Amino acid sequence: MTIENLVIIGSGPAGYTAAIYAARANLQPLLITGFERGGIAGGQLMTTTFVENFPGFPNGIMGPDLMDLIKSQAIRWGTKLLEVDAESIDLSQFPFNIKTADDDIYSHAIIIATGASANKLNLPQEKKFWSKGISACAICDGATPQFRDEELAVVGGGDSACEEAVYLTKFGSHVHLIVRSNQLKASKAMSDRIISNPQITIHWNTELIDVEGDENKWMERIKIKEQSSNKTKNIYVKGLFYAIGHTPNTDLLKGKIKINTNGYVATEPGRPETSKEGVFAAGDVADKEWRQGVTAAASGCKAALAAEKWLTQKGLSSLIKRSPTEPDQTKNINMEVSTKENFQENGKWQKGSYALRKLYHESTKVLMVVYTSPNCGPCHVLKPQLKRIVEELDEAVQGIEIDIDLDQEIAKQAGINGTPTVQLFLKKDLKKQWKGVKQRSEIKHVITEIINQES
Ligand SMILES: Cc1cc2nc3c(=O)[nH]c(=O)nc-3n(C[C@H](O)[C@H](O)[C@H](O)COP(=O)(O)OP(=O)(O)OC[C@H]3O[C@@H](n4cnc5c(N)ncnc54)[C@H](O)[C@@H]3O)c2cc1C
Repeated sequence: MTIENLVIIGSGPAGYTAAIYAARANLQPLLITGFERGGIAGGQLMTTTFVENFPGFPNGIMGPDLMDLIKSQAIRWGTKLLEVDAESIDLSQFPFNIKTADDDIYSHAIIIATGASANKLNLPQEKKFWSKGISACAICDGATPQFRDEELAVVGGGDSACEEAVYLTKFGSHVHLIVRSNQLKASKAMSDRIISNPQITIHWNTELIDVEGDENKWMERIKIKEQSSNKTKNIYVKGLFYAIGHTPNTDLLKGKIKINTNGYVATEPGRPETSKEGVFAAGDVADKEWRQGVTAAASGCKAALAAEKWLTQKGLSSLIKRSPTEPDQTKNINMEVSTKENFQENGKWQKGSYALRKLYHESTKVLMVVYTSPNCGPCHVLKPQLKRIVEELDEAVQGIEIDIDLDQEIAKQAGINGTPTVQLFLKKDLKKQWKGVKQRSEIKHVITEIINQES
């Protein structure tokens, strides 16, 4: 049985920064990135556009690009990633035990960096219209064809809600901002920007009651209640974006370490130590007040240094034998949009509608089409996984990426209503479709089945 020196749970700025420090200290950390339990791998910055305040990027950087860079740095120093959720933790035994869907992991130290996840409203018809108009990520889904030139709504009154409302004016014909109180919680500069924007109408003192439409197709309207009059009315919108805050991801930890009354992991003031020796916390999961990329990264650094010190004092760190790190499968893959001139009949990975049309009609291999949109964080998570599948299955499958912003018509024809979406075709037959990020093993398994049935 391998006993890890240090397991880091979470792949936001806190988790990856902890991994950089721990890996450079030769602790050979194992980092459980998360999959769907508490947001997405890469954390909250995967759901935003420009990050303008992270030091080192004077011109700003896209959130997903920033997270890709921090992740590469963690891998470069020898962090081993496990792209799954941590399902449970047992801190009553030592070494501590962490369970994922497939693995039982033992570790002398743990850093909890599980961040926070987006709140939902639990409206009566929310589930029916989730991904059929309702989204928690304007940046991921705003560019989809169904939202183009349509009226849209954002619910919330903080910086995220305002940022999303402004972003959506690029795609929708008008944006309604539904605010429960008579003021915005956003910064003064952001509030002024929103109030003076003619493309945005703010509905003050308004409660969102439900979403309605044809559940087999798409949402058509939201039902709101004006608090002053108690009157309900409909606003006809084709999209509803939630921006109503986040809840710290502590469900793994309840009853195992001390959690504050406000739901955050309790640590020593300004320090990463939790109520359990050997367990450290970093980032938003333990920080009600600052909740920024840079503060999360800094606390990840502190947690790794504290874990290293603790492991050394206890004489617990040792050399871990690992199978060699998986090679970067994305090298040598064509990233240019295919045209008549550079299209490759047997290319493994191509981009754009020209390649799709050609291969759809002519290829006898399995076609894996991934629909992405600019700055979509989940697309950043999924694409490397798909490229690995293409490499691993070698000549049997061809990958095509369609940017739905560039190829709107083709996205409409394909009925794409969110990104990422993956479609598998064989000889023009749609064999399977997935929406959102799925495990590589699941997609690879289905492709292999299709190939086996065909041969
Ligand atoms: C829309 C938006 C815009 C923002 N803009 C900025 C900005 O411009 N500048 C700035 O500094 N900050 C910004 N922030 C705040 C910033 O994103 C957060 O403060 C920061 O990401 C917190 O980092 P973290 O590592 O603590 O947690 P997160 O980024 O929340 O990451 C948590 C990680 O834990 C993983 N996880 C959760 N549960 C499990 C589990 N059971 N098993 C395994 N993994 C799990 C998740 O998958 C995720 O990878 C923004 C936030 C939002 C939502």
